Amino acid sequence: MNIAIDGPAGAGKSTIAKKLAKEMGFIYVDTGAMYRAMALYVLERNMDPSQEAAVCEACDAVDISIRHQNGEQQVLLNGENVTGKIRSEEVGKTASCISAYANIRKKLVLLQQKLAADEDVIMDGRDIGTCVLPYAEVKIYLTASVTARAGRRYDELREKGQMCDLKEIQKDMEDRDYRDMHRKESPLKQAEDAVLVDSSDLTVEQVIREIQKICQERQ
Ligand code: C5P
Repeated sequence: MNIAIDGPAGAGKSTIAKKLAKEMGFIYVDTGAMYRAMALYVLERNMDPSQEAAVCEACDAVDISIRHQNGEQQVLLNGENVTGKIRSEEVGKTASCISAYANIRKKLVLLQQKLAADEDVIMDGRDIGTCVLPYAEVKIYLTASVTARAGRRYDELREKGQMCDLKEIQKDMEDRDYRDMHRKESPLKQAEDAVLVDSSDLTVEQVIREIQKICQERQ
């Protein structure tokens, strides 16, 4: 069984998917981490992410793979574990830029489909229900108002002791959503057979219960 969770940045997809996978005994696959690893490769080489041909050529030979350690996904970039290096805003922004390129998507989508063919997975991203796993048994489109999403990201960063500005976070989120929703290749949108879950006024536990209910109905 495969469960696809798509939605905009900061909707809580990874928090929810990770917990749900643990409860249900599924493998959690965070596809955004793969685009982030590719973005890190581009940044570490001081390449201009807007140069599609050069970026695609450089990324063609890159090896991205994932493995699980104590239930946590680890991303390997040419054999190096880069899990701890890919969470910055800069990597996220670059990922959103290069994820618009067809060649990059083709490579990562194949890897994602292979993972789902071998295991029961809960996979989160932007195009899982529409493109990566069109036959997933359960599809969720998890969203929340931009103010709720920005507020959560702000709290998260403050908890880590990082200085940040709420307005700037919200603006970055809106820009990223716009790019992800308006690109030509697999834009972020709700699959026709996906169930919409709005987490603006729900706790993590409430969202998990709602998705579990949807899974039981589908089963
Ligand atoms: O989910 P996360 O913020 O880690 O994703 C980073 C970026 O990777 C997104 O903004 C999006 O542009 C891209 N992405 C994608 N398709 C996916 C997952 C992520 O285009 N399935």
